[in-house]
Formats: sequence, structure tokens, C-alpha cells
Amino acid sequence: MNSIVIIGGGHAAAQLCAGLVEAGQGARVHLVCEEACEPYHRPPLSKTFLKSAEEATQPHKAADWYRDAGIALHLGDAAQAIDREAKTVTLRSGAVLPYERLVLATGTRARQLAGLSTTALDNVVSLRAADEAQRLRTRLLAAQDVTVLGGGFIGLEVASTAKGLGKTVRVVEVAPRLLGRAVSPELSAHVLATHRAAGMDIVLGAKVGAIEIDGNRLASIEVDGVKQEVDLLLLGIGAVPETALAQAAGIECADGIVVDAHMQTSDANVLAVGDCTRFPDRRAGRALRLESVQNANDQARTAVATLTGAPKPHDALPWFWSDQLNLRLQMAGLMPAEGTPGLSTVRRPGPGANPNAFSLFHYVDGQLVCVESVNAPVDHMMSRKLLEAGKNPDAAVVADATVALKTLLA
Ligand SMILES: Cc1cc2nc3c(=O)[nH]c(=O)nc-3n(C[C@H](O)[C@H](O)[C@H](O)COP(=O)(O)OP(=O)(O)OC[C@H]3O[C@@H](n4cnc5c(N)ncnc54)[C@H](O)[C@@H]3O)c2cc1C
Repeated sequence: MNSIVIIGGGHAAAQLCAGLVEAGQGARVHLVCEEACEPYHRPPLSKTFLKSAEEATQPHKAADWYRDAGIALHLGDAAQAIDREAKTVTLRSGAVLPYERLVLATGTRARQLAGLSTTALDNVVSLRAADEAQRLRTRLLAAQDVTVLGGGFIGLEVASTAKGLGKTVRVVEVAPRLLGRAVSPELSAHVLATHRAAGMDIVLGAKVGAIEIDGNRLASIEVDGVKQEVDLLLLGIGAVPETALAQAAGIECADGIVVDAHMQTSDANVLAVGDCTRFPDRRAGRALRLESVQNANDQARTAVATLTGAPKPHDALPWFWSDQLNLRLQMAGLMPAEGTPGLSTVRRPGPGANPNAFSLFHYVDGQLVCVESVNAPVDHMMSRKLLEAGKNPDAAVVADATVALKTLLA
């Protein structure tokens, strides 16, 4: 009974399986997935997957790979309870799995809004998993008008895809700017201008008022005192960490399952990885919860090191990407909050004198902390390397596009 049980079927779980197989530990692994399929890539769900009914989900590994690696798959069978004393996990089917080490990789679920039930209302959808993407796609392809509640990454990606399909798109954001929690005001402004130029109606600082229901459909929603008819509405108002199992088992949680730099929870036999965790970040100097493929993959690597007896503290540079309209946005490092004392920014033109290609280098007290790139993938890659290496290139030098960033790595 020396098995490793992984609960969750997303990016972190898939990377964990790959790492454990590489370490020769595949035969110890039980992978418990609530969804009835092997782990698949989530980012395409708001992008290519929505464009056509022909698009399929993209699995990380084929079913054969798990079988050949000796991994026992429990698909469509959610974990329901953890008994930390007996060191067992009970699944919905009634199966009881003993573990030596348990890893929670339960991710997040889409935040819901009272009165706008995605189960009761046929034209209200949220997006996290493949079944929700399928539901959204069916309705999107049939809809004329799409209202997106929330100007975050997922909302704007779906809005972009919908626009590309020729739909009329309105984005309703209650905050004063798009992507307000994640990117700089300069980048927000560029994204806003691009979406508006593409013909989207973007309402910022919106006051959302009364909603009207007609049978099983949302008929209208009041925005800034004006009644807007709704054909299809996407709730893109963020995600909440899936911590219910951990909480019920008495594992410490605080808007995420609390882990240390080795991905250990408050129970030495239980680890947690990915979107569901709150972890200490050296660069930020505080505990964070991140929702990104990079974070899921890097935390899974740290967990593999812990599980295989070669612990190495987690110290990965956060990075992220998003595709919207003709924008490839790439961020390296974490953007400091607006108004952070000592924050300064310098703009570096991107390749080909294209006004839609540039990078923003952000410094705090003269120290480079974050680089945001728009259609400048080489500068993004080089910025990651600079930040990972702890380099602090002079602002005047990075602003000069004739200086190749790789020369600053030496
Ligand atoms: C539409 C969309 C687009 C995205 N685009 C980007 C992007 O462009 N760039 C980027 O960096 N990130 C993107 N992300 C975020 C990225 O996909 C997540 O950060 C990543 O999936 C996190 O991996 P995870 O394994 O922690 O969680 P998830 O991938 O969310 O996986 C969690 C899994 O756990 C399962 N689970 C939960 N509870 C239980 C239980 N009790 N028993 C069994 N299984 C359970 C869930 O069903 C789910 O399958 C996107 C996310 C979405 C939804």
C-alpha cells in the first residue's frame, strides 16, 4: 500500500503523471478524475475549440500511455472524502483507495452569480471544463448576439472568438478597466482599443441591474440603467479554488489549499498543486494563488521532486499568455498593483515597426519585475530568461529595439 493517489484530471495532474513516470514511479499512481476523460488542454476551450463543431479536445496523453505506464485511471469517478487517519480516499462509486502520499490537483470552478443559473437558464453559460465548452459552442454557433459578463482573460478570449464568427459582441465589465487584476493600465488600454476597433461594444465601470427571465431563458439584463436583450450570456467572472475536499478533511485552506515551497499541505502525507493552491512566492514576498498552465506544470515538477525524495523548493517565474483577436499577449513576472511606489515603465518597440507589437518593461525602484509583450514572442522569451537570471537591464537600453535582448543575458 505505497501508492500515490492524485485527485484531479487537469494540467497539474497530467504533468505530475508524466514526471512520476519519468522517475520510474508510474506503477504506484492512481489518477482520480471527476471528468469522464483523460486530462486535456484547457486553453483551446476559449479559442480554437469554439470556432467549429469539428474541433475536438486535445488530450495531454492518449489512454494507451497511461495503461503502458501502469497508471490506474479512475475516470468519471470523483473523490468524495479523504480519511487522513486511515490514509484512504473514497470515490463516488464507493471504491476506497489507500494511499501513502496523496496529491490534490482539483483546480478551480467557474464563479457563479445568484439569479443567473447556468443550469436553470438555457442561454447562460460559464466556461471551465470540456462539457461547458461543448455547451457554449452549441449555443454560440447558433446565436446572433453574445453578451460577456466580465472583461478578464476568458471573457475576452471568448468575445474574440465570437467576433471572429461574425457575432455581435458586448462585454460588460464592472471594473474601470479590462484585465484590471492582471495587467498594467497601458496594456489594458491597448487591449480595449483593439477590441473596440474590431467592433465590440465594451462597457466599463458597468452597473448591472435587473434581470428578466422568460421561462428557461434570460431575456434581458439592465446595464447602466438600460435594458439589453440577451441572446446568449457568458459568465466570465473568474474562478474559485476547488477546496471542498481538503476543507472537509481538515487540511488548511485560505482561498486555496495552503502549501509550502515543496507543495506540502498542513498534512505531511498530502500535497497540492496547480490552480487550487496558495503558495509562498519568493519574488512577490507573499503567498499567491495563480491560475496558469505554467504554474500548474512547475508546481507539479516541484511535487514530483518532493515525492521522489529529491526535494527542491519551488521558485518558478510566473508567466502567462492569452490570444485575443490579432493580439498575442505574453506576460513574464507578476505585474505590481497600480500605484505601487517606485513603479516605472518603459516601452520597447516590437519587430517590424508594427504599432501592434511592443513590450512594456516594468521596474519597481529601478529593479525589473515584469515584462508584458504584445505580438513580440522573441522579446517575451528573452524577458523570461532575464527575469529568471535576476538580470536588471537598464531601462534606456531595453527601450532601444536595435539592442537584441539576448545580448543582455551575458
Ligand atoms: C477556457 C480556459 C482557457 C485558458 N487559457 C489559458 C491560457 O491561455 N494560458 C494559461 O496559462 N492558462 C489558461 N487557462 C488556465 C489553465 O488552464 C489552468 O491554470 C490549468 O488548467 C490549471 O491546471 P490544474 O490542474 O490546476 O486545474 P484544472 O486544469 O482546472 O484541473 C482540475 C481537475 O480536477 C478535477 N477535480 C476537481 N475536484 C475533483 C474531485 N473531487 N475528484 C476528482 N477530480 C476532481 C476537475 O474536474 C478538473 O478536471 C485557461 C483556462 C480555461 C478554463
